[in-house]
Amino acid sequence: MEVIPLGVWGGYPKANSATSSFLVKENGFNLLIDCGSGVLASLQNYVSIQELDAVIITHYHHDHIADVGALYYAKLIQNQLSNETKTLPIYAHTKDSQFRAMQYEGHMEAKDLEEASKIGPFTISTTPTVHPVYCLALRLEVNGKSVVFTADTGWTERFISFAQKTDLLVSEANLYQQYEGKIAGHMSGRQAGMLAEKAKIKQLILTHLPHFGDVQDILEEAQKEYTGDAQIAKVGSMYTI
Ligand SMILES: [Zn+2]
Repeated sequence: MEVIPLGVWGGYPKANSATSSFLVKENGFNLLIDCGSGVLASLQNYVSIQELDAVIITHYHHDHIADVGALYYAKLIQNQLSNETKTLPIYAHTKDSQFRAMQYEGHMEAKDLEEASKIGPFTISTTPTVHPVYCLALRLEVNGKSVVFTADTGWTERFISFAQKTDLLVSEANLYQQYEGKIAGHMSGRQAGMLAEKAKIKQLILTHLPHFGDVQDILEEAQKEYTGDAQIAKVGSMYTI
C-alpha cells in the first residue's frame, strides 16, 4: 500500500498547493481521501481522472469538499471523451443533507461511508471525531497492513484503540501547543505525538497544517511525545507500507 500526500494545508491551500488530502494506492486501486481546494490539480500528478476508483469524504467542511464540483465536471468530460460512463463511487456520511450533493447524474454515485466495510481491496472502519460538524476518522487495512487517518479532530482517548498499532498514522496537527483548548475540533502536534505514542503506531505523518508560525515547531512538539519516526507529510513523497 502506498500513501501519497496531495496537500497538507488546513482551511485553504497555499500558492500552488492543496488542502489536506491523500491518494492511497494498492495493487492498481486508487482511492482518494478528501477533495478540498487544489486537490484535483495535485491528484493528476499521480493518476488520471478515469484511473481513480473511489473517493472518501471525511466531512463536509469546504477544505475537504471544495474540488468535488470540479471532479463532477472532470468525470463528465472524461466520460464523454471516452464514450463510456465510468461511474465513480464517492463515500461520505449521510448525517448531513450535503450527502445528496455528492451524487452527480450517473458520473458519481454517493454511498454511505458508515455502511461500507470494504472499498476495493481495503477493509474500512470509521469512528466519529471531535469536530464542530460530524466527521469520520478512517482505518484502512489490506494484507495485514493498516493506515489510520484522524481526519479533523480534537483530542479523544477513543483514538488510542482505533489507531492501535497501525503501520502509518496520518494525523491532523492544526495547532501549536499554546492553542490547545482554545480552538475546538483540532489537535496540536503534541497531541498527535501523544496519540502516536499511546497507540504504539509505527510511523506518524502530520497534516492539516496552520498558515502561520513555523510548522517545524509542530513536528518538534510531536517528537517530544512520540519516540518513533515522525514527519510533516510531504507532497511528492510516497509512504510505502
Ligand atoms: Zn473540518
